[in-house]
Amino acid sequence: MNRRTFVVNSILGTSSMATLTSFMNEMDGIKPSEEKMPVLFIGHGSPMNAIEHNEYHNSWIELGTKLPRPKAILTISAHWLTRDTRVTAMERPNTIHDFGGFPKELFAQQYPAPGSPDFAELTKKLITKTTVHSDYEWGLDHGTWSFLLPMYPDADIPVYQLSLDYYKPMQYHYELAKELLELRKKGVMVIGSGNIVHNLGMLNFSGQAYDWATEFDQRMKEFIVDQNHQGIVQYDKLGSIAKLAVPTHDHFLPLLYSIALQEKNEQISFFNEKTDMGSVSMRSFRIG
Ligand code: ZN
Repeated sequence: MNRRTFVVNSILGTSSMATLTSFMNEMDGIKPSEEKMPVLFIGHGSPMNAIEHNEYHNSWIELGTKLPRPKAILTISAHWLTRDTRVTAMERPNTIHDFGGFPKELFAQQYPAPGSPDFAELTKKLITKTTVHSDYEWGLDHGTWSFLLPMYPDADIPVYQLSLDYYKPMQYHYELAKELLELRKKGVMVIGSGNIVHNLGMLNFSGQAYDWATEFDQRMKEFIVDQNHQGIVQYDKLGSIAKLAVPTHDHFLPLLYSIALQEKNEQISFFNEKTDMGSVSMRSFRIG
C-alpha cells in the first residue's frame, strides 16, 4: 500500500476507495498536460566531461537543480546507431563504456538508474512511422550517462534510450521525432544528445575554433531561433561548411529530435554556446 492509499484508507475506510481511486486517476490524467516537460539538446563532447570539473560538467550540475523532476528521461544519443529503430526496455540498463583510450577512472563510472519498460512500451505505441523493437542488449551509453551523472547524481529517475536508424534520411528522423510529443505531456523529459559541429579529425587542442565551425554553429542557432526546421533538416545545403562541421551525421541527428518537439512560440534558451577543441560545438538548449 502506498502512502496516498494509506492516508485515503485511514480517512474514508476501504468502501469509498473505488470512487476515490477513480477520481484520483482523473486528476492524474489532467496533471501531466499542466506539467509539460521541457526538451533538451545536450552537446556532450568529450566523455571526460562526465568527471572533469570543467564548465560543461558544472553546467550539467546546475541544470539538474533547475529542471522540473521528470517521471522518466528518454535520450536519443549519437552513440546508438542501428539499422532499425529500437527502444531499451530492460528494468536495469547497464552502463556502457563505449570509448577507448581514456583513464581508468572514466571506465569505473557507473550510472545505475532504473530503466522504464512502461514508457518504452508507450513510446513504441506512439511511433507509427516504423516498427520499434524492444531492446534488452544495449543500456546507457556515454551519450546518455556522461551528462546525467552530474545532472542527476542520485540516478533515481528511470532512463531509457531510443536508437537512431542511421540509414534513414533527415526528414524521416524529424517526422518520427514529432510522434514523441505526447511523452512530454506524460512527464517524460526527452533529451537529444550529440554535437551540432563534430569533426574529430580536425581537433585543435590549442582551443581556437575554426571559422567554418563557428559559422555553421551560428547558422544552426539562427534556424533554431527562427523555428526554421527545414533549414536544419537540409543543413547540407550550406555546402562546404556543412561538410566540415558534419563529416558524418551521427552527432547531428539527435538535434532533429529536440527541435521537432518544439511547439509553436515555445521559449528556447541556449547554454554552453562554445566550441571545444576547435571543431566540437557544445551548443545546448532547453525548450520549454
Ligand atoms: Zn559523442
